[in-house]
Amino acid sequence: MEKRFVYADNAATTNVSETAFNAMLPFLKEQYGNPSSIYSLGMDAAKAVLNARRQVAEVLGAARPSEIFFTSGGSEADNMAVIGGAELGAKSGNRHIITSNIEHHAVLHSCEYLEGKGFEVTYLPADENGLISAEQVSNAIREDTALVTIMAVNNEIGSIQPISEIGSICRERGVLFHTDAVQAVGHMEIDLQKSCIDMLSLSGHKFHSPKGVGALYVRSWIDLPSLIHGGAQERGKRAGTENVAGIVAMGAAITEAAADISARSERLAKMRDRLTDGILASIPHSRLNGGIKCRAAGNVNVSFRGIEGESLLLALDIAGIAASSGSACTSGSIDPSHVLTAIGLPEELAKGSLRLTLGDNNTDDDIDYILKVLPDTVKKLRRMSPMWQRICREEGIDDYTI
Ligand SMILES: *Cc1c(COP(=O)(O)O)cnc(C)c1O
Repeated sequence: MEKRFVYADNAATTNVSETAFNAMLPFLKEQYGNPSSIYSLGMDAAKAVLNARRQVAEVLGAARPSEIFFTSGGSEADNMAVIGGAELGAKSGNRHIITSNIEHHAVLHSCEYLEGKGFEVTYLPADENGLISAEQVSNAIREDTALVTIMAVNNEIGSIQPISEIGSICRERGVLFHTDAVQAVGHMEIDLQKSCIDMLSLSGHKFHSPKGVGALYVRSWIDLPSLIHGGAQERGKRAGTENVAGIVAMGAAITEAAADISARSERLAKMRDRLTDGILASIPHSRLNGGIKCRAAGNVNVSFRGIEGESLLLALDIAGIAASSGSACTSGSIDPSHVLTAIGLPEELAKGSLRLTLGDNNTDDDIDYILKVLPDTVKKLRRMSPMWQRICREEGIDDYTI
């Protein structure tokens, strides 16, 4: 089989779609006005930002466009929701926060920051499939709980949380509910009208708009404190001249993604299942991380015994396959993924993990190529791995690599 380039890291980022690219171009060239200026060039830019706000609100089912606050991305939206939500609670003496132990670091590190400011945080443990139940949330809510923040879809193992149920419980108990939906928006149906989500984070570059633009949805009655001070932009909550081109691109991309969400996700799920089954069948001593049910359509996360994830990534890169081990944000550090550790993987298996996340540009030929390259790569690495040889010796495994 001829060498090809296969991008299988769509949970890290996606390419900019043709639609998003074309939508943003005028705002990088002739339409350069500042949306706060009163002449036509400025007002046209303001109109474009408003139009994008309407597009995002419409796709999410938000009651009004003014509930959408543009940010620099998912991390900023998470910080704004978690820190802002906590500060809001503190005003009425509520200083307890509930989250899970498999959240993105944008949420976890915001929680740690709040702990340093005297807040108390409950980290709900995910089960072996990476799921948090509404019951766990319900049992953890206290008199002084200010905020519950549980992600919609995990970025490493793709587990889909029951956010509608969790939202209903929070609403019943009068507690704010935020969800990091960065891996969900553009990939699965979200209807804020039908759900009790109070705040929701999204990021453009996870659904084919450029990097550096995202949004936080905040239900209209919530008066979140400002994150960035210095201007009236984003209703005074987030000062700074708007990233007009990025915002316009994101509006176009979210509309494009929403148009055929179920057909796209069906196609991805088929490729995901073929890839998962193929890997588990052809590579001995491999396992799937996270459950099969309630799993994001494009997510495959597997571990191979006796392998270092980093060496595997390098070998795959040489073969033209872009993938990740743990999450992109933590690659380069030698710590095993906090998500894989949280769902019970021993350090050896957590470090020997491979995440392949499929996206709209992947084809069946890509899957064939990965299934062709991966087993040989794992075999070669194991042949050179003292760890694998030790495992074989200690556990009486017949070493198939020799
Ligand atoms: C990518 C990601 C983020 C961070 O978004 P950025 O726009 O890159 O800051 C936050 N949460 C999840 C679940 C993500 O996948």
